[in-house]
Amino acid sequence: MPEKTKLLIIGSGPAGYTAAVYGSRALLEPILLQGIQPGGQLTITTEVENWPGVKEIQGPDLMTNLESHAKSAGTKIINETIIKLNLKKYPFIAMSEGGNQYEAESIILATGAQAKWLGLKSEEKYKGFGVSACATCDGFFFRNEIITVIGGGNTAVEEALFLTNFARKVILIHRRDTLRAEKILQERLFKNPKVEVIWNSQLKEIIGIDNPLSVEGIKIENLLDKKELEISCKGVFIAIGHAPSNELIINQLETHNGGYVVTKPNSTETSIPGVFAAGDITDFKYRQAVTAAGMGCMAALEAEKFLAEKIV
Ligand SMILES: Cc1cc2nc3c(=O)[nH]c(=O)nc-3n(C[C@H](O)[C@H](O)[C@H](O)COP(=O)(O)OP(=O)(O)OC[C@H]3O[C@@H](n4cnc5c(N)ncnc54)[C@H](O)[C@@H]3O)c2cc1C
Repeated sequence: MPEKTKLLIIGSGPAGYTAAVYGSRALLEPILLQGIQPGGQLTITTEVENWPGVKEIQGPDLMTNLESHAKSAGTKIINETIIKLNLKKYPFIAMSEGGNQYEAESIILATGAQAKWLGLKSEEKYKGFGVSACATCDGFFFRNEIITVIGGGNTAVEEALFLTNFARKVILIHRRDTLRAEKILQERLFKNPKVEVIWNSQLKEIIGIDNPLSVEGIKIENLLDKKELEISCKGVFIAIGHAPSNELIINQLETHNGGYVVTKPNSTETSIPGVFAAGDITDFKYRQAVTAAGMGCMAALEAEKFLAEKIV
């Protein structure tokens, strides 16, 4: 027999846990499924210095706090992943990998997104210790340093430009001899005296030390003449894009911009009434913990309204 709930929250990042706090306080008795990354993306970072009210906190600690807040507000938190979602039928049906079924009168989709990585061993080793995929989050840690940015699309150029606010110098490394980014962004990049672009080159390795774990430079390879070059830098930003975690809703909800869930303006309502989307699964612009949390709040308030107005 499926477990029935008024509100099913899928995802345990800042969006999911905030929706859980609001949903619980609205007496919706939500059930939250954590997925394979309990706590979401912030569990793989170190210092977070832009969560309002807390000057500095480790990402995993912040997410433990949010989880315990959601739990104490009354949310039933389940450490499982949803593998199938049927939004064509109402109430909606969700199936977990453990074979449990949930029948939900409303759903908040907060499955987030993942930065795309290159897959290098050294990239994995220094993630959070000089290697980042978020300039807004981590640029501040590299004031007056040399920073390298890997990529050639809008993400890379935007990140490189933003990082010039902190860095002594920003070196953009791109595999081709032209950028894919919008022309206006390219113009701004080429005009910026702090920026140097190295063309036709790929990242081979991130070089660093173990004590303290930190980046000292990178090794790149020129794809035309195969020559290798070492560059000293303290920060490496991998800016090759993000992928929304949308597997559950493909062909069910309207998406745009490479798979992000479409929501109505100033709302978290999706193309199916009763299904709300919050956080990085719908946000290709800001991608911050506090904006995800804000959307989680909106989604819970909108779910409450939907349930109150629903014709049974
Ligand atoms: C390295 C790094 C550092 C960052 N630093 C900062 C920072 O300093 N400040 C800041 O504001 N932002 C930072 N960010 C960005 C921030 O982490 C994200 O914007 C935020 O976590 C998005 O929250 P979210 O709730 O939308 O989803 P996420 O945090 O992406 O969480 C998604 C959740 O959905 C779950 N999930 C996915 N699929 C399923 C499924 N099928 N079933 C059940 N659950 C599922 C996952 O397990 C996870 O719990 C950083 C990101 C990274 C990667």
